Amino acid sequence: MIKITFPDGSVREYEAGVTGLQIAESISPRLAQDVIACGVNGETTELNRPINADAAIKLYKFDDEEGKHAFWHTSAHLMAEALQELYPGTQFGIGPAIENGFYYDVMTPEGVKLNETEFPKIEKKMQELVQRKEALVREEISKQDALDFFGKRGQTYKNELIEELEDGHITTYTQGNYTDLCRGPHLMSTAPIKAVKVLSVAAAYWRGDEKRPMMTRVYGISFPKKKMLDEYIEKLEEAKKRDHRKIGKEMELFFFSDRVGKGLPMWLPKGTALRIRLQDFLRKIQKRYGYQEVMTPHIGGKSLYVTSGHYAHYGKDSFQPIHTPEEDEEYMLKPMNCPHHCEIYASQPRSYKDLPLRIAEFGTVYRYEQSGELHGLTRVRSFTQDDAHIFCTPDQVKGEFLRVMDIIGIIFKALDFKDFEAQISLRDPSDKEKYIGSDEVWAEAERAIIEACEEKGLTARKELGEAAFYGPKLDFMVKDAIGRRWQLGTIQVDYNLPERFKLEYTGADNDKHRPVMIHRAPFGSMERFCAVLIEHTAGHFPLWLTPDQVVVLPISEKFNDYARQVNKYLNDHDVRSTVDDRNEKIGRKIRDNELKRIPYMLVVGEKEAAEGTVSVRKQGQGDQGSMNYQDFAQKIDTEVREMTEQL
Ligand SMILES: [Zn+2]
Ligand SMILES: [Zn+2]
Repeated sequence: MIKITFPDGSVREYEAGVTGLQIAESISPRLAQDVIACGVNGETTELNRPINADAAIKLYKFDDEEGKHAFWHTSAHLMAEALQELYPGTQFGIGPAIENGFYYDVMTPEGVKLNETEFPKIEKKMQELVQRKEALVREEISKQDALDFFGKRGQTYKNELIEELEDGHITTYTQGNYTDLCRGPHLMSTAPIKAVKVLSVAAAYWRGDEKRPMMTRVYGISFPKKKMLDEYIEKLEEAKKRDHRKIGKEMELFFFSDRVGKGLPMWLPKGTALRIRLQDFLRKIQKRYGYQEVMTPHIGGKSLYVTSGHYAHYGKDSFQPIHTPEEDEEYMLKPMNCPHHCEIYASQPRSYKDLPLRIAEFGTVYRYEQSGELHGLTRVRSFTQDDAHIFCTPDQVKGEFLRVMDIIGIIFKALDFKDFEAQISLRDPSDKEKYIGSDEVWAEAERAIIEACEEKGLTARKELGEAAFYGPKLDFMVKDAIGRRWQLGTIQVDYNLPERFKLEYTGADNDKHRPVMIHRAPFGSMERFCAVLIEHTAGHFPLWLTPDQVVVLPISEKFNDYARQVNKYLNDHDVRSTVDDRNEKIGRKIRDNELKRIPYMLVVGEKEAAEGTVSVRKQGQGDQGSMNYQDFAQKIDTEVREMTEQL
């Protein structure tokens, strides 16, 4: 008999050679039906693999990451089987599971081009193959046999992979007529793959090397239930509509220029107006919470980053130093604002009476990201942090956390993020050696963060061992309007930089002490936050924030003068308004401005000009009747005031 330990710590005895499936069956028939794969001593394997010695086991369903992974990975094999049947002679590269679904890199035979018209055929073939309920049969095979097997089938890419493997560790999996070189883990058969969708194709160099052949990467996704696929597709469609890159273009918020460079966003006037308004909003709150604003340069001497430790850690992976022509000094583009702020702290003697010192900066930083990793405003090479550093005494940490959490709460409320959660990253208690700072200060800071969350009634997940070596932190995750999770603000305790920069303050005891440093950024970065906000609101920003609140639409050229008169009155009364006096039909003007997501459209024609009124259309709600334009200005003012007063 062998001992099987379950995640809850309970232990049961089984015959040696028992499988994960048999273990699930021994617990409940329902579980046996839902389980997809199992973890044996931390390694995911098939449910039908015999377990021959004592082991810790976990049973995975589709809801578990590991379960999804095995499911999608098996689906990649299924898609390959379909491609092989549909397009004989297809050569296969690699086919992994990814975060959402799976892909396979393939080289199609002469004359076959995989594009959207082929997708339904592939899906149909996959569904047909699933009906055969084929088992995935695992085989250990010698290197030579593997080379012969795949060589005979013209699978040159597989053979290249085999060449790099060690003999004695090569396995294949076969379902039906399709055999793949693979380590697993998989489902026991393709039968549970009830719903499949081929999503897209892209060009991909073999092994990511641009000197190697260009293959076709076929992306797909699959689910154990048709309903789950339908929901996924619906969400995908909604996400596409909300894509911040698309809306950013329609609303003229930002753009990228190849000549300026990849991942370097350019903010257009309307996007800039949005950003400034967000910054001013935060500025106002920060002032209330005792922050002082500073400004620092975009570059810093190399020695600054040697002192901070960033150079040793990230030097090779960042933008390389800039050299001055005459003196050959070295400067780095700043990857973070903290070292500059440490220098500001150190610029004068500090006493405990000066603490907490809170210095804030909308600081632009530059970080190298591989070009393939860049994505709209969410992964960029230059971004502006809503950064601040708080220098305080150890016993002030909790109070400062509470204050920062207040600020974050105000922001989330103002921008209608109702659903958010937090994660506290703590030390690994079994390995205290690897952390800088004394045991007492760590224990105090960790307790402070946990208590602060409790006092705020914030549910926070605690993650042991997730803290950086220099201090614990608190991260905020928001759920957007369509249920996606985004990581935003962070509050991070830091014992390292005050040490490296030898920061001090004079205590009440007249001795020198090290301050604690807290990094915090409620938005995270302006770029990322704007992207999330665009996708959360689908571009329909709250009235107080939106770049243009009103557009006046004259029905024809005859009423352009009256439209301008209305517009001027609105602008004079702090309403952000423009006129669309293009020589276009009114229907076209309405459609175009709807795309710009301007909350109010004021249509003016003969009747309005004669009566001094405007016909009000509200975005998403249509016609609201007519009113004096003076009253309309008053209405906007009241609406904005009601929204901002409570912030
Ligand atoms: Zn596989
Ligand atoms: Zn910092």
